[in-house]
Amino acid sequence: MFTSTRSKSVNLGSAETIVQGISEEGGLLVPLEFPRVAAMEIAAFARMDYRQLAEIIFGRYLLDDFSQKDIKDTIESAYGAQFDTGEIAQVEKVDDYHVLELWHGPTCAFKDMALQALPTLMTKSAKTIGEKRKLLVLVATSGDTGKAALEGFADVPGALIGVYYPKDGVSAVQKLQMTTQEGSNVFVMGVLGNFDDAQTGVKQIFANQELRETFGSSLRLSSANSINFGRLLPQIAYYFYAYSRLVKQKEIKCGESVNFCVPTGNFGNILAAYYAMRMGLKIKTLICASNQNNVLTDFFNTGVYDADRAFYTTASPSMDILISSNLERLLFEVCDRDAEMVSGLMGALRSSKHYEVDEQVKARLKERFYAGWCGEAETRETIRKTYREHDYLIDPHTAVAVKVYDDYRRSTRDATPTVIVSTASPFKFAEDVLGAILPETKACKDFAAVDALRSATGAEAPSRIDGLRNKPELHTDSCTVSDMTQKLTGWLNARA
Ligand SMILES: *Cc1c(COP(=O)(O)O)cnc(C)c1O
Repeated sequence: MFTSTRSKSVNLGSAETIVQGISEEGGLLVPLEFPRVAAMEIAAFARMDYRQLAEIIFGRYLLDDFSQKDIKDTIESAYGAQFDTGEIAQVEKVDDYHVLELWHGPTCAFKDMALQALPTLMTKSAKTIGEKRKLLVLVATSGDTGKAALEGFADVPGALIGVYYPKDGVSAVQKLQMTTQEGSNVFVMGVLGNFDDAQTGVKQIFANQELRETFGSSLRLSSANSINFGRLLPQIAYYFYAYSRLVKQKEIKCGESVNFCVPTGNFGNILAAYYAMRMGLKIKTLICASNQNNVLTDFFNTGVYDADRAFYTTASPSMDILISSNLERLLFEVCDRDAEMVSGLMGALRSSKHYEVDEQVKARLKERFYAGWCGEAETRETIRKTYREHDYLIDPHTAVAVKVYDDYRRSTRDATPTVIVSTASPFKFAEDVLGAILPETKACKDFAAVDALRSATGAEAPSRIDGLRNKPELHTDSCTVSDMTQKLTGWLNARA
């Protein structure tokens, strides 16, 4: 069962939780309690493949409303041949740390890990709760969620998918991935603004009374953003998986603690690691790595969350976020599940872009979390150094994590085995990666950069990125934040 971070009286099953996405009073839906995974089960994970392990983790949260077969079907359709490795998620050893590569799916970023499963979870959930209307799934994206959601929901019966992305805030490949999306049920719109603006616009659409009156009888609004528990759940599985591979590869003994270092934006990915820990996975420290938009670093270090600051467009655009939505779920846990306190903090954030937690909460955060950030020049330097010294190519998001881990190790001397979470293929950000490893070459754009990166390193570009160059752009429209609703209703009317 699930409750809300802002209201004790909420009590929902897993199907309702996944369809609804967010609690009615504005809070986030969280498990009433964390299911446990026993040490013996974790030991057995080393003998399982990704699908078998994921089936167990999914089952811990879903068996109230899903049958074992529903879960198995979901896993099989989500983690199959659309991944370019049978491992699904791959653990590599680089230097004295490990890297969990989460970008082997169809859109080459970690969002696939959740968004390949979410459409099935959502449509099955809708059926379970007797929802007869079509689902209208809306997403604001900082670059990667949009494409992953389009890929997951394209042509899914019973669902429409709408994506808003910051028109000038995503990489060339990210943009092309979205504008070339095929499917009879897809809506893609550029927004003149940044990610936070696009997210604000989507929230306004959800609150739009007129839209509800016009389309409410035939459509049910839902969200595939990372506040949806259906996004979080599949992410929990890969933390157990990474651990199980280290055990299998004899890098650690089962029962030994590890650290995870996660490049963070909306706090969904690292929160999944925290949930895995609460379920029984042995984690010592969670290292929260930010780019120049370092609002989380300041929060963990000072207890003050201050979103009233300059916004930077960086080489790691999927982390260019000032309002980190999923942090609310962590606050809920470290405030002893005090929904009133969380409501108060979130109210302050809304009205004054700012809140502060008390000393006790601050101390609790410090027990488990370390936070750091990495600037733009250091990001490039880290990509270059990792390639030169270890012959390993990383994208700018991953580079942020590698640098912050380096700082962590220097300042703490903690020798605990550490897994750095790698969230995107370097080819997705070819221009920046190329500029970092070969600063002397002439800057080149788009596919010229993909080709140059390939010939400079001998690495193979994922075929899904390569294939984009021949695809027609089908969605070239853009709008202001205030026109976002109107563009959507125009599309819906044209379909009707
Ligand atoms: C979304 C994303 C992130 C940030 O993940 P959160 O769950 O929002 O913290 C980091 N890197 C890449 C490549 C992403 O797409």
